[in-house]
Amino acid sequence: MKVVIVGAGFGGLETATSLGETLGRNAEVTLIDKNDALVFGYSKLDVMFGRTTPDAIYLPYRAFSKVGVTFRQETVTAIDPVARRVTTDKGVYAADVLVVALGADYDVAATPGLADGGQEFYSVAGSLKVRDILPTFGGGTVVVGVMTPHYKCPPAPSEAAMLMHDYLTERGLRDRSRIVMTTAMPSPLPVSKEAGDGILARFGELGIECITGVMPTLVDGGARRFHLSNGSVLDYDLLLAIPVHVAPRVVLESGLAEGGWIPVDKATLATRFPDVFAIGDVTSVGTPRAGTFAEGAGRVVAAQIVARSRAGDVARYQGDGHCYIEFGEKQVAEISVNFLGGPKPTSHYIGTTPEGVANKRAFGSARANRWFGISV
Ligand SMILES: Cc1cc2nc3c(=O)[nH]c(=O)nc-3n(C[C@H](O)[C@H](O)[C@H](O)COP(=O)(O)OP(=O)(O)OC[C@H]3O[C@@H](n4cnc5c(N)ncnc54)[C@H](O)[C@@H]3O)c2cc1C
Repeated sequence: MKVVIVGAGFGGLETATSLGETLGRNAEVTLIDKNDALVFGYSKLDVMFGRTTPDAIYLPYRAFSKVGVTFRQETVTAIDPVARRVTTDKGVYAADVLVVALGADYDVAATPGLADGGQEFYSVAGSLKVRDILPTFGGGTVVVGVMTPHYKCPPAPSEAAMLMHDYLTERGLRDRSRIVMTTAMPSPLPVSKEAGDGILARFGELGIECITGVMPTLVDGGARRFHLSNGSVLDYDLLLAIPVHVAPRVVLESGLAEGGWIPVDKATLATRFPDVFAIGDVTSVGTPRAGTFAEGAGRVVAAQIVARSRAGDVARYQGDGHCYIEFGEKQVAEISVNFLGGPKPTSHYIGTTPEGVANKRAFGSARANRWFGISV
């Protein structure tokens, strides 16, 4: 059986790893990604605030070694979901089973004025730019602006605001600075009232303002004014943006997407094309865009591929995940959520614990070890 997985992020890596572990040489798995290394999403926060060096965040795909799986660093240029054929800049791959795990891209230009008036920090390049800008910042109003209701890692904007508090405090600039977060959501983390209230309480302690239920309408970089959908305008000195997210162009051109994202069966992650699955940020499955959900989806898809060659029940996708939330001052909160296991989402907010920092570190090291055999 030939399995082709496009995208070696959280979802693709977990699918390939599970298949390698279970099927070994009984399947021919090809994993394709345009990059030469994985970077964890949260590493971008660490980079921009100087908590780590850029060299330390790359997990090279050359260290990915699983029986029966071949990694290819190539750019996918076309996907034919009917023929299950993938074209890259270097070749063509025919698949018995195709797994699309290409994540989400950013469309900075979708927000008028943002390209000139603010700086996104959701890409590695963007976080490196912020890292270079911050030392030149002499205090003032920092706006963490969410430009879209649908973005990766729902707690990340709040984390950026709380880590900004730490950064400005360490540089002696906090007293002459204001930190404001804006979001289209009704709360910083709507899935859990407890977690949203926990973040707001922490914002209160740290003096961070939060404006909810607003979308940006214009970034006026010349006047440094941020216009919001409720008619208000924020004067800012530094605008850190979470840009509009879009499915990669190759997905939009493939016929797989509807309404901008790939629809899938919520229990199986199957697309409407036979033997074509889609997982993670590129889908409209209904879970937040976060690695913990993408890898869970990867495990469920791998189990279904294995079930083709072995009898047995296959667990339905539950849309569950466990997330860590940086609360500033070396505190980390935790929340577990399940989106698809019952009639409505459930969550368990754990809050900050003495083990929070170590637990988050263990989350990263467990994946670095499982996928790359690397200790971090
Ligand atoms: C600031 C920030 C903090 C975050 N913090 C967390 C966190 O604490 N916990 C958590 O669970 N999640 C977190 N996330 C979210 C997490 O990074 C993503 O949701 C997760 O990586 C999605 O997994 P995925 O497999 O769907 O896509 P991705 O991991 O994005 O993988 C997609 C892959 O497809 C590749 N690709 C795209 N187009 C092509 C092409 N044309 N050809 C070849 N390859 C291509 C990309 O190179 C990429 O490697 C964070 C994200 C950000 C930005």
